[in-house]
Amino acid sequence: MATVQRVLALALVSALTLIACAQGKLSYENYAVYKIDIGSIDQLEVLQHLESLPNGYTFLDYPARVNMSVEVVVPPGQLTNMERLFRKHEIQSTLLTSNLQQILNKERPTRKMAEGFGWDDYHTLEEIYAWIDEMVAQYGSVLSVQTIGQTYEKRDMKVVKLSYKEGNKGIFIDANIHAREWITSATVTWILNELLTSEDARVRYIAENYDWYIVPVANPDGFAYTHTTERLWRKTRSQHNLLCYGTDPNRNFNHQWNNGGTSVTPCSDTYAGPEPESEIEIVNLTTFVRSIAPTVKLALSIHSRGQYILFPFGYNNAPHTYNHQDLLQVGQRASVDMYKLYNKPYRVGTTAEVLYVASGISVDWAHAVAGIPLSYTYELRDQGEFGFILPADQIVPNAEELLEGFIAMIDEAQILNYM
Ligand SMILES: [Zn+2]
Repeated sequence: MATVQRVLALALVSALTLIACAQGKLSYENYAVYKIDIGSIDQLEVLQHLESLPNGYTFLDYPARVNMSVEVVVPPGQLTNMERLFRKHEIQSTLLTSNLQQILNKERPTRKMAEGFGWDDYHTLEEIYAWIDEMVAQYGSVLSVQTIGQTYEKRDMKVVKLSYKEGNKGIFIDANIHAREWITSATVTWILNELLTSEDARVRYIAENYDWYIVPVANPDGFAYTHTTERLWRKTRSQHNLLCYGTDPNRNFNHQWNNGGTSVTPCSDTYAGPEPESEIEIVNLTTFVRSIAPTVKLALSIHSRGQYILFPFGYNNAPHTYNHQDLLQVGQRASVDMYKLYNKPYRVGTTAEVLYVASGISVDWAHAVAGIPLSYTYELRDQGEFGFILPADQIVPNAEELLEGFIAMIDEAQILNYM
């Protein structure tokens, strides 16, 4: 097929260009973002093929099925080629922006160096870890930090534990396992700060009567890479061949691994890895979660974007869990209470039924393997306007909303005798 050969040739050129500028930060000047509607199997296959190549395109959503739309970032050098390909396959697309860099410029205000850590801007891994150390120094009687292993590139993976007393049931939270989802680590650090300092009786109750285990950045290598090099990077940074880096860490868990919604192609953004738990980051996380699992009743994996509250399962033709009605009830209660704050709707249901089929994901593993009965993915703001590059002035409102969701979930879980 001439088209495929042409795409491959261009892909190689683009990949080499990417390698050439790997030392600096990728500018998205004149990169376009398109919303593409997938209307047929033929179109789905073309897009999945395009997604799996090292071609400079960044798919912000995986083209998982017919009758969904995906957003795709297209480098300026690929625009003519893309238009030709789309015309040939009658793919319908809408231009969302012709210059992604302009949106990125709105993400962060001018940095105020003197003000230290706060939630009016996004922070690097080093800044987040330094803030955690400061908080541990200040609140050492209740707060501790533990290194649970190193990443592929030898960065520390850290979990923060907040515990006011013996015998509490546990809540486990991971954030930023997908590198580009910056709002997630910003949100959980804000919530940790509230758990330590808030005088709201509802917050004091959940802070002091549960043990909180929080991994603020579950994919440190990928996260660091989004700061230094490529803002929209999603995966880990393990190398699979000359051109392809990274495994999707949230497709690498050892439960129904590679059973739907994953790719076997190493350059794909949903590459499941060569085998389950091929990524050291996932080994570190699962080893840690197993060690605390007997006391943990609620596991939360924080992602963006789209505003969803999702629970197991996500894989192909999955059954409902034994406690499906409870998971639905607790999730719906959170959604109702979150809506009350800023009128942002969050859709609730199983990953496979409400979003798309995805396998080897953390929430499924936490429920089915670690035995944690209540296990949810939160997909935070927004529903399309800014996507992964949510302006920093939305960090606090989004975090306030999520805290309402946590309070509601815990309350409803108590009513149902889980915690
Ligand atoms: Zn994610």
